[in-house]
Amino acid sequence: MTNPPQTPLSDRLRQLVDTVQHNERTLRRFQNVELRLIGAQDFASFLDTLFSDLPREFSLASVTLWLDDRAPMLLELLDPAALRALDLFGLKTARESGLAAQGLCEAGRPWLGQPAGLDDAVRRAFFGAAHAPASAIVLPLAAGDTVSGYLCLGSDDAGRFAENMATDILERFASIVTASLDNVAHRERLKQLGMTDSLTGLANRRYFDERMREEIMRAARYGVPVACLFIDIDSFKRINDTYGHQTGDRALAAVAACVRQQVRLGDTVARYGGEEFAALLQGDRADALTVAERVRLAVERLDLQDDHGVRIALTVSIGVAARTIGGAPAEAAASGRAMMEEADRAMYQAKRNGRNRIEALVQADS
Ligand code: GH3
Ligand code: MG
Ligand code: MG
Repeated sequence: MTNPPQTPLSDRLRQLVDTVQHNERTLRRFQNVELRLIGAQDFASFLDTLFSDLPREFSLASVTLWLDDRAPMLLELLDPAALRALDLFGLKTARESGLAAQGLCEAGRPWLGQPAGLDDAVRRAFFGAAHAPASAIVLPLAAGDTVSGYLCLGSDDAGRFAENMATDILERFASIVTASLDNVAHRERLKQLGMTDSLTGLANRRYFDERMREEIMRAARYGVPVACLFIDIDSFKRINDTYGHQTGDRALAAVAACVRQQVRLGDTVARYGGEEFAALLQGDRADALTVAERVRLAVERLDLQDDHGVRIALTVSIGVAARTIGGAPAEAAASGRAMMEEADRAMYQAKRNGRNRIEALVQADS
């Protein structure tokens, strides 16, 4: 039997497979850059990922970031002297550049095309007097109605970014950039205010309590649920006694990183005490229980080793509490405190019930 001739269908199939594989490669490269952005510990490494890794991974001629330095968090991030140094890399804050970008991105939609075809004044305001890329996309960095900046990707290829191109992948990327920027701004501010714990890199208790107050007010205003977790490492004294204090420190840092990885970008995780962590989550009790179980499992699976390569088993006990908060500000604040106390009590319940487990008390007021 001879092979059937190539049919148009098999051509189409091959094309489909090619496209799927191409998209997969693109998404994976995006994911690499995204993970670096999300994990950025400071503004410098955030910018480095954006201005060095991104153009390399995607063969871009230029990456430009315009930021609104009036945005509350950015204001503190963008110290004028540091800004001047960063200007070299393509970070801009000039008011007219922002207005030009705003004009391009009608109704908050990305703009794509050839800067050469733009009105002279607009082109100069956003792309500068020096040579503009042959084609570019300008993406608004927006959370809700607030635009904190614009990200511009430029190419030497005039056809790379063209009107009517699908932009969903790049818009998704822009939303990751926006959230990461917010995250890094928070991190920087925390450091400035002495609100981070140096061993774990997490926020400390002082910050957590302050953030809790803000978050409770926000939750009360919008009627959205909030939840918190109290996480305590089981029998940690024994870890210190068995492996030494230094290895104990390493274990603490490993658990901290593990907890951080299991919550969402906007959630707050703090080192609340010696070997205790607290997490403030946006979501209801069911969400919080899911996150708590993820944390419990992830810690149980941590592969931490002592100096001789022997695995150190670690587990945590977690107390969960959640609220939908209403009422006046004073009432809301009290409700937040009550939620924390409840999570703390639930954590002790988890200890009593055998450790390496999660408890959520049945609320009297629900
Ligand atoms: P449980 O399961 O009931 O929570 O037992 P536990 O041993 O974890 O609890 P306990 O409160 O008895 O002990 C906590 C230990 O955590 C004691 C303390 O030495 C240790 N610890 C607290 N902070 C640090 C730290 O920064 N580094 C190290 N290595 N150990 C710490
Ligand atoms: Mg404890
Ligand atoms: Mg403990």
